This record gives sequence, structure tokens and C-alpha cells, in this order.
Amino acid sequence: MVKHRLSKQRKVILEVLRNTKAHPTADWIYEQVKKEIPNISLGTIYRNLNLLYERGEISVLNFGSSYSRFDGNPEHHYHFKCKNCENIFDLDIPVNENINQAITDKTPYLVDSHRIEFYGLCPQCQKKS
Ligand code: ZN
Ligand code: MN
Repeated sequence: MVKHRLSKQRKVILEVLRNTKAHPTADWIYEQVKKEIPNISLGTIYRNLNLLYERGEISVLNFGSSYSRFDGNPEHHYHFKCKNCENIFDLDIPVNENINQAITDKTPYLVDSHRIEFYGLCPQCQKKS
């Protein structure tokens, strides 16, 4: 398979994403990338984020929100969203590999993937309340 060479834009976007744990919005990524490529447009950011997602290099998170948040880690992992500060954190727990088969066994559906989101208060917000 031919390896596509990353365009400079895509490379910078990927670097910005891989260097943060914050699961940022496209707007935040845009502000960071502009420091290196001042004339880049928000449309170009979105186009490249979609391409990176289609190629399996990043993850996209929605959490029932109207805007997406992006994750430089394409591996399946679980997230926790704080209901107070709205920060999204990685959960260092193993992905449940058995749940797909369990649902397939117990229902008419052939399950090949799942998504689980956890909600509550992060340690910082627990201290405040
Ligand atoms: Zn919080
Ligand atoms: Mn993540």
C-alpha cells in the first residue's frame, strides 16, 4: 500500500492534537495551528480533521453536544466528561472486549463495536462543591 505523505497542514494539525490531553474543539485547534501557519482557514482545519478521522489517525467525540471534540489517540479507549467544567478525560481502564459478543449472543444484532461515555464530577470540581 502506498503511504500518503502528510501535507504540512495535516502534519501540524496532527502534532497539535497529539500534544494535548484536552480533547479540544476545532476552534481551539485552529488557534494553535495559526501560530505556525498564520494564513490557514477554519475550513481547512475541518477538512483535514475529517481526512485524519477517515484514515483512522484520530478519534472524534460528540458526547451529545452539537460540536465535536477531537482526540489524537485513535485507539479505542473510554472517556469521562465532567458535568461541571465540561473537560473530557481519558480513563485508564481496559476496554471491555467481551461486551460486543455478549450483546450479539443475547440479541438479534451482530455487534462489532461499542461506545461508552462516563459522566460526573472531576477531582477539581469535587473539591469546589
Ligand atoms: Zn470538572
Ligand atoms: Mn481520549
